[in-house]
Amino acid sequence: DPIVEVKNLRFYYGASEALHNLNIDFPRRQVTALIGPSGCGKSTFLRCLNRMNDLVDGSRVVGSIRLNGTDIHSSAMDVIELRRRVGMVFQKSNPFPKSIYENVIYGLRIAGVKDRALLDETVEKSLKGAALWDEVKDRLHDSALGFSGGQMQRLCIARAIAVNPEVILMDEPCSALDPKSTARVEELIGELRKDFTIIIVTHNMQQAARVSDYTAFLYEGLLIEYGLTD
Ligand code: ADP
Ligand code: ADP
Repeated sequence: DPIVEVKNLRFYYGASEALHNLNIDFPRRQVTALIGPSGCGKSTFLRCLNRMNDLVDGSRVVGSIRLNGTDIHSSAMDVIELRRRVGMVFQKSNPFPKSIYENVIYGLRIAGVKDRALLDETVEKSLKGAALWDEVKDRLHDSALGFSGGQMQRLCIARAIAVNPEVILMDEPCSALDPKSTARVEELIGELRKDFTIIIVTHNMQQAARVSDYTAFLYEGLLIEYGLTD
């Protein structure tokens, strides 16, 4: 069964309908690429999946999104819990002005985890999972402020996986990276799909072909094609 099921989804910014009746199911432990021209609704759709878009003034959602069978807008779903279960990696983000260690366990701190051994273990596992451990293991308590773009994206991935999410959303994670860092993040996505379901927005068709199992093509708020990546 699919991990995320989207039924008759419409999303409005005020009176403007940005997503028109989308129906799509996301298979478990697969990478789905969302592609389409600028302004077609890729980010809007991604941000519906963890209710980030609820924060936009005057926005409105119609239809349903189920995560492992539970409607994400029902009272059975807590938003904080939803955002733990559906992690997000942005196009570009800055480190929090804290240590590498604290950057990784940010989500666990919010969840109130205090067990030092568990935190240490999670930091190591997450940084290894994000292919960053070898570079930073001797300076975990230093600031992350000097990180390169590529290191920063891998730190964001470590932060996302530290809370063991069911789904990881990635919004153009490589568009600010050089080719070498991009190749590294793409390789990482190949590793992560063994444990997580990934939905990645990209405007790069070649990248979609390289990293994804499924491709969904959006055009002016409509899902016009969906299927196995060629
Ligand atoms: P994409 O990610 O494919 O470039 P977006 O999801 O960012 O597309 O945008 C889809 C449509 O929604 C566009 O017409 C855009 O102008 C509009 N839009 C995006 N964000 C907002 C917002 N906060 N308020 C109003 N309209 C928005
Ligand atoms: P990555 O190692 O993530 O692929 P780069 O290839 O851009 O990133 O950088 C190689 C190395 O150069 C990094 O490990 C990092 O130590 C250093 N570096 C690159 N850019 C910066 C920067 N803006 N500030 C500090 N160090 C940097």
